[in-house]
Amino acid sequence: MTKEKVGARAKIRAFLEANVGKIVTTQQISEVAGIRDYQRRIRELRNEEGMQIHSYKDSMDLKPSEYVLVSLERLPAIERGISSRLRMEILERNGFTCQLCGRTGGDADPCDPTRKVRLVIDHEIPIEQGGTNDRSNLRVLCTACNQARANIQPPTETAKNLIARIRKQSRSVQKEVYEALRRTFGDQ
Ligand SMILES: [Zn+2]
Repeated sequence: MTKEKVGARAKIRAFLEANVGKIVTTQQISEVAGIRDYQRRIRELRNEEGMQIHSYKDSMDLKPSEYVLVSLERLPAIERGISSRLRMEILERNGFTCQLCGRTGGDADPCDPTRKVRLVIDHEIPIEQGGTNDRSNLRVLCTACNQARANIQPPTETAKNLIARIRKQSRSVQKEVYEALRRTFGDQ
C-alpha cells in the first residue's frame, strides 16, 4: 500500500474517532482524507480493523451520503486477505445469500429492526485456528450471523475428544456416524 493510502486511512480513522456517535458526510470524509477513493479506505477500516462504521447500508436512519462510527469498540477483523475478485466469486457461488439464515444484503437485522444486514465473507474455520483462504473454507454470512458466531465461538473440537464422545453413544448412532463418514471418505 502506498504512503498516501495509509495516510488517508489514518486520517479517516482519526476523524471518525473524534466524531464517534455523530453523523458525518461523505464530503467531510473526502476532504479529510484528501482522496476521492475514500470508500475503499472505509471498507478497510471496517473489515481489517473492525471499526463499527455504519452507512445507509447498515442503518435505516442514514442517507446515502452519511456515515457514523457507532462505537469505539472494535469487532473482530473480517475478510482478511480476500481480494475483491475472490469476494465476488464467493458471493456469486452462494447466491448473495447468508448460508446460515438465508438473508441477503439490505434485509432487516433480526436483532435490531432499525438496522440492515450486510453480507460478509466468513472463514468457516477461522484464520486463528488454522483456516485458510481456500474456496472450500469460505462462505457468505450476513453481519447478524457473523457477529453471533463471533460471540459464541465453539471451542475447537479435537479428534480425540470427538471420538470419545461418539463412543459414548448407542451403537446405532455410532453406525450412523460411521456410514456418514464412509460416504464422505469411502471412495478415496
Ligand atoms: Zn445470516
